[in-house]
Amino acid sequence: MSAIDTPQVCEIAIIGGGAAGVLAAIGILRGARSPLRLLVIEPSLPLARGVAYATTREEHVLNVPAGKMSGFPEQPEDFLDFLSGLPAFEAVSREQLAARFVSRSYYAAYLRQRLQDAVDGSPAQLEIIAARVQSLQPGDDAVRLQLDSGRAVMARRVILAVGNALRPLPARGASSLPAGKRIEAWDYPALGDIPANADVAIIGSGLSMADTVASLQANGHRGRIHVMSRHALLPLPHAKGAPADYDPEPLLAMNLRQRLHALRQHAAEAASRDIPWQSVMERIRPMVQRLWQTLSFDDQRRFLRHVVRYWDIHRHRIAAPVYAQLKEVQQQGRLQLHRGRLETAVAEGACVCLGAQDRWRRPLQLEVQCVVNATGVEMRAQAMRNPLLQQLLGSGVGRAGPHGIGLDTAPDGSLIDADGVVEPRVQVVGSLRIGSLWESLAIPDLRAQAAIAATQALR
Ligand SMILES: Cc1cc2nc3c(=O)[nH]c(=O)nc-3n(C[C@H](O)[C@H](O)[C@H](O)COP(=O)(O)OP(=O)(O)OC[C@H]3O[C@@H](n4cnc5c(N)ncnc54)[C@H](O)[C@@H]3O)c2cc1C
Repeated sequence: MSAIDTPQVCEIAIIGGGAAGVLAAIGILRGARSPLRLLVIEPSLPLARGVAYATTREEHVLNVPAGKMSGFPEQPEDFLDFLSGLPAFEAVSREQLAARFVSRSYYAAYLRQRLQDAVDGSPAQLEIIAARVQSLQPGDDAVRLQLDSGRAVMARRVILAVGNALRPLPARGASSLPAGKRIEAWDYPALGDIPANADVAIIGSGLSMADTVASLQANGHRGRIHVMSRHALLPLPHAKGAPADYDPEPLLAMNLRQRLHALRQHAAEAASRDIPWQSVMERIRPMVQRLWQTLSFDDQRRFLRHVVRYWDIHRHRIAAPVYAQLKEVQQQGRLQLHRGRLETAVAEGACVCLGAQDRWRRPLQLEVQCVVNATGVEMRAQAMRNPLLQQLLGSGVGRAGPHGIGLDTAPDGSLIDADGVVEPRVQVVGSLRIGSLWESLAIPDLRAQAAIAATQALR
């Protein structure tokens, strides 16, 4: 594996070398029966990091126990096998390891190792190009990719795996804040540079906020931490407990209101038997895509407007120790949670003054030394800050997915253009399929989609 000169034509090009792109590359390398040229085009090397797994900080752990994080459904213990071979886990029993929330950097290392194994055993040739794709244009014989380096690549098949587009800080003046005053939650080195006594505001109260607080704690932070979001809902923890044994299939025939009512009932019933509500959520996890697809369009819209915040904290849970640490900092009074809508961010001397409105539209002002943008990922296609996506939408090669979120895709993942025509040579994997699938972000979804995309590309 090495970065080399761009070939003129290749059989398959993968745009994006995060977890999804690497899983697709592994599927292609493993499935190839004869020599072919496979390109992975990714500006940020080494591969397999993306936003989630780029962190090298120990306190940034997976949100899922190691035993459930295999990249390959046919080898469910594969991530465990990888971890067991590392000196760091020599003394840990396999059972303990399966239940552990390990640092996310191990996951990037795991995917890179499996990629290397696949390269070694494949007749296909992997070439990595350190560049960003600016435009994609299907032609008669091949799809043309224009790179930011000025080069063009022609590919017979393309897998689009560009992943998460981060939201900008939603405040007037934010873009003019000096370096070190406005920090992106995924800028892991910058988080490490926040002075220990600084008062910090974190905008957003989800998983990136939890990461940020964990890093501040690990750095011995002593200043105040203000967390502000529109609903002020903190992520909820995983819990150990017996599985819930209700039949979730009837939910598929219900409308949104009935489903929510039924789930609350199942949770209450489970609680009466000392089974945590988390087990009730786990029961529907494998069918979330079907649940989304069987909602009416209006109910999907209601879900996005009224339910999504509650869904997120119940579905995307954090490790119990991470939650315990959050609550401890909150109970000590160092972390204050504010329900409000940020409006302005202005540098004044050594401080940043944040202007917001609280839930009753009263002014809320905070003065801090720096502000961390933890507002998460953008779902609306038109607002995504990725020039490639803007080109796809602007040229009609792609169109926004249902409700304007993500890109529109066929059931097999093929891109759909502005006229509704399916382009089978371009397969989409990952969070861009959110409008069609809703649940299209975590490793179980990515690995399934990557496997299908690999099969299609090799066909
Ligand atoms: C903080 C965090 C923690 C998570 N933890 C877990 C977990 O514990 N368990 C779990 O199952 N899931 C987890 N997830 C969800 C999921 O595994 C990740 O979101 C995963 O990183 C998604 O991978 P991806 O490849 O689709 O996207 P990304 O990781 O966003 O990678 C996309 C890649 O595409 C590249 N790219 C973008 N545009 C272009 C372009 N124009 N040209 C070329 N390259 C481009 C980017 O540089 C990037 O490297 C987590 C997500 C986050 C954000």
